[in-house]
Amino acid sequence: SRAPDHQVRLSARIVPYGNRQFLLTVRDVTRIHRLESMRRDFVANVSHELRTPLTVINGYLETLVDDDTLDPAIHTTLKSMEFQAERMRRIIDDLLTLSHLETREDPKAEQTPVPVPALVGGIEEEAHMLVGEKGQTVTVEADPDLWLRGARTELHSAFSNLVTNAIRYTPDGGQITIRWFQDEAGAHFQVEDTGIGIPPQHIPRLTERFYRVESDRSRSRGGTGLGLAIVKHVLQRHGGKLRIESDPDQGSIFTCDFPSTRLLRRPSD
Ligand code: ADP
Repeated sequence: SRAPDHQVRLSARIVPYGNRQFLLTVRDVTRIHRLESMRRDFVANVSHELRTPLTVINGYLETLVDDDTLDPAIHTTLKSMEFQAERMRRIIDDLLTLSHLETREDPKAEQTPVPVPALVGGIEEEAHMLVGEKGQTVTVEADPDLWLRGARTELHSAFSNLVTNAIRYTPDGGQITIRWFQDEAGAHFQVEDTGIGIPPQHIPRLTERFYRVESDRSRSRGGTGLGLAIVKHVLQRHGGKLRIESDPDQGSIFTCDFPSTRLLRRPSD
């Protein structure tokens, strides 16, 4: 109470000896919170500042690549510059998305009814386009009447990241199944693939920023290393959790668990 601007963390525990004794610790976390907030602002500002010059570079590159009169060697160089600039744009966009998720004032504030089946339908279309010639099969099993209270854009971004990953890490001809269902524990959005899988020691760290099982493989497949960090934050803001089960060489199941308090039956027209 003597330092009203300070943030403290209280914790109490029973001391293992003696009668009716307990230990109360008070830790001043003001500095940690300030540093954390500086880090967040810094990342958000840098990402924002980098976006404009990159858009200009991308614009010029696009124009140059379209020029048929160029020497083929120069054309190839420009193509790879365009590819790298596009990768950089995706990383910056993901960093900005993460910063927005971290800085929103009230994490539980968004309570808009979200028609998840329609959302899943849109993601299924995107998935078919992404699969293209690669020949993975995408199937959807979704409860048509199950809605959720939340933020539509955030949920779209989380679900679509999981589906994109499933496609990215599943060889040609594999199977990807998207499910949206309810049980006694709540509602679940699930993506199952028959892909390369993840060795168990990596699973606990997958939602860390830029953590990858194999950096080169992820980069060459267009990953930014930020997708699962975004998924984790979106779920936290919706009172949900991400569950990951995987067998190397067999495939993976990523499940977003939402509490039943977030559920809605489709409002009747
Ligand atoms: P990235 O953009 O690299 O895919 P993510 O944060 O989305 O980054 O995922 C982190 C890492 O988790 C990936 O680099 C990859 O190694 C692993 N991963 C994610 N999804 C899958 C999946 N469906 N199958 C196998 N590995 C996966």
